[in-house]
Amino acid sequence: MTSTFTLAAAAALALSGCSSSTPEPSGDPVDALTLSQSITEDALIAHLEALEKIAADNDGNRAANTPGYDASVDYVAQVLRDKGFDVQTPEFDYHLFSTNDVSLVSAGNDLTVAALGFSPSTGPDGITARIVPVPVDDTPGCEASDYEGLDVTGAIVLVDRGVCPFSAKQDIAAEQGAAAVLVANNEEGRLIGGTLGEHDAGKIPTGGISQEDGAALRAAPGEVTLVLDTVIDSSTSRNVIAQTKTGATDNVVMVGAHLDSVEDGPGINDNGTGVAAVLETAVQLGAEPNITNAVRFAFWGVEELGLVGSAEYVEGLSDDERNDIALYLNFDMLGSENAGYLAYDGDDSDEFGEGPGPEGSAGIERTFLEFYESQGIDADGTDFDGRSDYGPFIEYGIPSGGVFSGADDVKTAEQAEKWGGEADADFDRNYHTPQDTLENVDRAAFLMNSRAVAYSVGAYAASVDGPNGVPTGEARVQARTE
Ligand SMILES: [Zn+2]
Repeated sequence: MTSTFTLAAAAALALSGCSSSTPEPSGDPVDALTLSQSITEDALIAHLEALEKIAADNDGNRAANTPGYDASVDYVAQVLRDKGFDVQTPEFDYHLFSTNDVSLVSAGNDLTVAALGFSPSTGPDGITARIVPVPVDDTPGCEASDYEGLDVTGAIVLVDRGVCPFSAKQDIAAEQGAAAVLVANNEEGRLIGGTLGEHDAGKIPTGGISQEDGAALRAAPGEVTLVLDTVIDSSTSRNVIAQTKTGATDNVVMVGAHLDSVEDGPGINDNGTGVAAVLETAVQLGAEPNITNAVRFAFWGVEELGLVGSAEYVEGLSDDERNDIALYLNFDMLGSENAGYLAYDGDDSDEFGEGPGPEGSAGIERTFLEFYESQGIDADGTDFDGRSDYGPFIEYGIPSGGVFSGADDVKTAEQAEKWGGEADADFDRNYHTPQDTLENVDRAAFLMNSRAVAYSVGAYAASVDGPNGVPTGEARVQARTE
């Protein structure tokens, strides 16, 4: 998967990096504000109409591994090719985890159990075996010595959550001969959202239970029947990548939006809006603009199932290729029905949630805030929580930023006061539903946020130095190895 991509990318870089084949840019140098004003509502809406029609023609969605997604790839690639871009659609493999049935019965009582992500299956009939609790210590089930004196052969081991990954706990239990593992939460309530991580990490079926049920089983460890009837499917998807033929290829300005929707809806705000803004920026910029730094456009696959396309892309690059990326700009939801004007909090000035982004992210945030200020809008920060495709980039220390009109968070009274809309209501009540349609897009906010996209691309294509710049050259290599 990644090798297909790496070869394609290497070929592209070899071409664009060769000065004799780089076209001479013509026309005036790109100006950020001029580029931003070239983005029109009509052009943006035309892209959304195309994506909404694709969903309507394909069971109402454009989700990964569906014909609606393939049609979305074709649409974006064609618009770019029509503007003279060389377009790549590198493939990647990914794995999907689902469950047919889960249950846990102890002494005739039904307990609540969840299969940890990528848990092997017990089969539909489950496993009936005795429970063996592993002693509670500083390394709950994290070391082979935790099993000293215990016979767990064929048993269902009960361990507490914490200290080491779930995958390590089931690995060690499997080595001791256990048939399955139950991990009890180490705080009140159910154990939700746990995963073994990789699709091939699982050795034996592994489920999660609440702290309360864990304590009850520990007190009376009888025989139980555990059903974790799980399925691990593998599939293939594609990203869409295109780069300007002009500009320095060792200071690439990368800009991306995820192209897939959820299965439950057409994905017009999430994320047709981000796609339309990035695509229209490419259209207005053109393939051979007069710019200092090359711009690489990305439309990611399989974001909704865990940032898969962007992660495969970043991980598939060599160190040198990653160091050629000056910064990454991400756009995911720009026209929420009850829209906000939110810039990723790269400097953690809000002191909320996750910390600051990699060095340079603060300057990217300032670029957006200054743009909104010039348009008379007092924008706010939004936590740099990695919940979209910039996540894999910041993991490699690549400075990132972007803007966002809000999803399932609530607009405050103060925000409604300065931006309009409804206070104490979600930014987007249609998020991940069949109502995520063009009709429910706030067009004024969508236009303004899309102009912020073009502005940031224009600004960094002209220069990645200055007060809002990002590390370059040796300083970049240093910053990213720290
Ligand atoms: Zn999204």
